[in-house]
Amino acid sequence: MKIEFKKVPTTKKELETSFNSVKIEGTFCRISSSLVKIEANLKGIIDIDCSRCGSSEPFSLDEQLKLLLSDGVYKGDDEEFLVIEIENSLIDFDEIIESELNSIKSDYHICKNCLEDNQLFEKEF
Ligand SMILES: [Zn+2]
Repeated sequence: MKIEFKKVPTTKKELETSFNSVKIEGTFCRISSSLVKIEANLKGIIDIDCSRCGSSEPFSLDEQLKLLLSDGVYKGDDEEFLVIEIENSLIDFDEIIESELNSIKSDYHICKNCLEDNQLFEKEF
């Protein structure tokens, strides 16, 4: 889903859009002429590669998203919200989901098999 920046309402509106099998559910609203606030959850099932053995396994996502979308360069400083600068005054939710997924996938993740190996390892020694 894509939406023009200036078309985002200034009162909180329900947000529900999906990309592949991952869904964003929550609210969004425009809090200034150049800032849109999103409070939502990212839900779905994605395949994540194990950081140790490299095999992928399905991972059930339920991540809280707190985003500030800035139309152009963001000069402020925010600790609670992750700031994303967007281009062309166009919000592309597919792109936002995709980049969130990429950052989740790049996190350290250990698959069930490796976790079991770890436990065996600890028992043996
Ligand atoms: Zn593994």
